[in-house]
Formats: sequence, structure tokens, C-alpha cells
Amino acid sequence: MSSKGNVALVTGGSRGIGRAVCLELARRGAAVAVNYGGSAAAAAETVQLCRALGVEAEAFQADVADPAACEGLVTAVKERFGRLDILVNNAGIARDGLLMTAKEEDFTKTLDTNLKGAYFCTKAAAKVMLRQKYGRIICLSSIVGLRGNPGQTAYAASKAGVIGLVKAAAKELAGRDITVNAVAPGFIESDMTAALPDKTRQAMLTTIPKGRPGSPEEVAQAVAFFAAPECAYITGQVLCVDGGIAV
Ligand code: NAP
Repeated sequence: MSSKGNVALVTGGSRGIGRAVCLELARRGAAVAVNYGGSAAAAAETVQLCRALGVEAEAFQADVADPAACEGLVTAVKERFGRLDILVNNAGIARDGLLMTAKEEDFTKTLDTNLKGAYFCTKAAAKVMLRQKYGRIICLSSIVGLRGNPGQTAYAASKAGVIGLVKAAAKELAGRDITVNAVAPGFIESDMTAALPDKTRQAMLTTIPKGRPGSPEEVAQAVAFFAAPECAYITGQVLCVDGGIAV
């Protein structure tokens, strides 16, 4: 399915799943706004890789946990590209710790980035999309938001919250040809999972029926499916890309 002529904004497009999403959307013909938090060099590399695929691309720094920065981000993308058709709320962090010992500040930071970040960007993008009477919004949730995981109360709460946000926004925006869906990855090779202790990684791998971690590119396929113009009658859904964990 082609996204030719569309303009996409991918938060956290500098690395990992976000970068793979930028490249897949570029491959399908979309112009790409690559948001990043701190990794300017990595974001510039994503931009170059997108341009090499023959589309326009530009990097935009913004902390998604900051509502004013999210407003500014969407405004800047609209000014640069003239419209905004696809928003991918991908930026995310994991600050793990057991319920009884984890710090409240880590809980707050995780919710601010993963849940409020998606909320701020969705709200800012929806303003543009409502006027356009067209939009595709995709949020990265997680299998952990559906099933929980010991040591990840903050992350699980943020990713479960994203699903609630997706379902409510899907109902509010459906009348204007704006769909809102979630992709829930399982265990995907990226900087985020590379940071996990080896014991945790091994334990997680044993739960995957496919017997291997997923790749960022495999997640990007699901995101690109929801982002396509043809994907007009699917909204409020959660698609697991998890090698069978949730079955
Ligand atoms: P990653 O490799 O750690 O990359 C995270 C990305 O988010 C980076 O591009 C980072 O940009 C950006 N980011 C973080 N905080 C930000 C902020 N405040 N403002 C703007 N950008 C910010 O993570 P990943 O594995 O690719 O994960 C991507 C998404 O998929 C996340 O939402 C994650 O929760 C979800 N997910 C991942 C897995 C997995 O197994 N990897 C599983 C389920 C769900 P900078 O470096 O530029 O700051």
C-alpha cells in the first residue's frame, strides 16, 4: 500500500523502531518529519536515509513530554511540508523497577513521555487533521501494556494508557476520516531492549512462540499498514507484533 504524497511525523524517529518506521513510510512515498529528543546525529542520519529513498525529509527536535514543544513541533512540520497526514507516536522510554522500590520520579517521567507525549502530539496533530478531514494516527503501545510485566509497573501503566487514548480518540475523530490505532510490539531488538539485564532478556525470549526477537522493520510494516489511505475502515484497534506472545 502506498503513502505517496502524504506527510508523516514520526516521534522518536532518530533510532530503533522509529527510524525503521520513517524508512518504511519513505519507501512507500511519504515525506517524513523525523522528530528526536537528544540524538541529533542519529536523526540527521535517518533524514539522509529517507532522502536516499527519494522523498523529502527533515529533522525536528522536540521533547514530547513538553506540551508547548509538541504544539511547536506540529506547527513547524505544517509550515515546512504544508500538511500532516500521518502521526506516529513512537517516542518512548522505559525506567524499570519493582513496585516496592521504584522511584516516583521514574513513574512520572515514564508517564510524561510515553502517555502524555502521545496525548500532546495527538491533540496538536488532530487540530490540523480535523481541518484537512483526513488523518492516520498510530501509537506504539506494548505487549506489556496488555499483559503487564514484573518490574515494569510504570511502563505497563503508560502503555495501557496509550490503548485507552487510542480507543477514545478513535471514536472522537472517526467522522472526519481520521483513524487512530495502536501497534503493540513484543520483544524487539533495539537500544531499549539491549539495555535490559541478560537474565531478563533470556527470560523474555523463552516466552516467544516464534523463538526469536522481532526486528524494528517488522514493527514498521504494521505501522505502515495503519498509515495507508486504504486503511480507512479500521480504527481503535490494537495490533500485536510479538511473535505470538499474546496468543
Ligand atoms: P529506543 O531504541 O530506545 O528509541 C527511543 C526513541 O524515542 C528514540 O528515537 C528517542 O529519541 C525517542 N525519545 C525518547 N524520549 C523522547 C522525548 N522525550 N522526546 C522525543 N523523543 C524521545 O526505543 P525502541 O525500542 O525503538 O521503542 C520505540 C517505541 O516502541 C517506544 O514507544 C517503546 O516503548 C515501544 N516498544 C518497544 C519495544 C521493544 O521491544 N523495543 C516493545 C514494545 C514497545 P532521542 O534518542 O533522540 O532522544
